[in-house]
Amino acid sequence: MKVFKFGGASINTAERIQNTGNILRSYSGGKILVIISAMGKTTNALEKVVDAFFEGRKEDALKLFEQVKESHLTLLKYLISINWQQAENRLKDFFTEVEWLLHDKPVRDYDYYYDQVVCCGELLSTSLVSDYLNETGIKNKWLDVRDIVRTDDNFRDAYINWKYTEQKIKTDVEPLFAEYDIVLTQGFIGSTDENESTTLGREGSDFSAAIFANILNAESQTIWKDVEGVMNADPKEFPDAQVIDALSYREVVEMAYYGAQVIHPKTIKPLENKNIPLHVRCFLKPDIAGTVISNKPVHNLPPIIVLKKNQVLMELSSKDFSFVEEKPIAQLHEMFSQIKIRPNLSQNGAVSLLCCLDDKTEKIEKLALAASEIFDVQLEKNLTLLTIRHYSREKYEELTKGKTVLLMQRTPETVQVLMR
Ligand code: ASP
Ligand code: MG
Repeated sequence: MKVFKFGGASINTAERIQNTGNILRSYSGGKILVIISAMGKTTNALEKVVDAFFEGRKEDALKLFEQVKESHLTLLKYLISINWQQAENRLKDFFTEVEWLLHDKPVRDYDYYYDQVVCCGELLSTSLVSDYLNETGIKNKWLDVRDIVRTDDNFRDAYINWKYTEQKIKTDVEPLFAEYDIVLTQGFIGSTDENESTTLGREGSDFSAAIFANILNAESQTIWKDVEGVMNADPKEFPDAQVIDALSYREVVEMAYYGAQVIHPKTIKPLENKNIPLHVRCFLKPDIAGTVISNKPVHNLPPIIVLKKNQVLMELSSKDFSFVEEKPIAQLHEMFSQIKIRPNLSQNGAVSLLCCLDDKTEKIEKLALAASEIFDVQLEKNLTLLTIRHYSREKYEELTKGKTVLLMQRTPETVQVLMR
């Protein structure tokens, strides 16, 4: 059994949905659990619907939702001919669920509504793709993952109830493979004991796929993307970025920690626990192997570069020139956890502390204000944090040339530089 995850870009046009079908057809005979994201930018569009609804702009919310409906209905017309009525009715049922909610007034908190509305992106895309595949002879069983993946009610970042979910996958999903080669369902969403929809955090469907891979003891998981694999840098910033053939789980976790937007960070653990290799492959070039991520240590990696822009340097100095000791440091950490902000880099000196943070303006202001009770606080904005794993002196010099380095930290494997 394999687990495939198709991201939003792999199904954002009729041709791409057909292409996804061709990929699945090329694996016919095998058993595949398929996880699909919302189409293209649907999740962003649905976020705007929730914002409008929550701000009391009901008409705007309905209008914005109308666009989401249109884009799905248009694709449906294009892709499905024989069973279009049935397929359309399925989409319409999901539309109704959302519209019914949009007609109400918000009485609960934002995150709750977010999940009830945003989850429909995945329900619509999977329903459409499943009907299309069935019509073209790629027989598959569609499932509402909310009947399977159980979570707590920490809306927008819900926590998986592994025990319940495992039981459900064993009793309700695994047996379906006796009759079907393909079982197709949603990533990113789940539900609570009370049948409320939940989401697992943006880009969470990589993680959903890993949950299924773990519980089904899959031989592998594949994430189909619009890039040729995991690259050593963002090709938009570094045109000579290259695909890395093989990576270890550990390396990928490290890359995610430093801010590389490769794979949802929660994805690795369920795979690592069962030693399931993760392939990252390109749906536009299914003939090339892409990247494989496994427990095998990989040597001679190229320098891996992560750039984080929009950084703030906060300098916290003791007010009376005394040493910065444990107590104020502990107080500062308490502030970090209360404000839910984590420094990307920090360094202690005798009478001051330096922290590099993402410039989330509201949080930075809160932190600066709270910290000014115990420290003198100075801020510098518009900085860039460069991380190079497996660095060489040449690479370091090339990437810091002409910049002012404000802070630097180095281990044998990783160098981090905050620069202006
Ligand atoms: N559709 C969701 C998002 O765009 C989840 C995902 O694609 O993984 O964040
Ligand atoms: Mg995505």
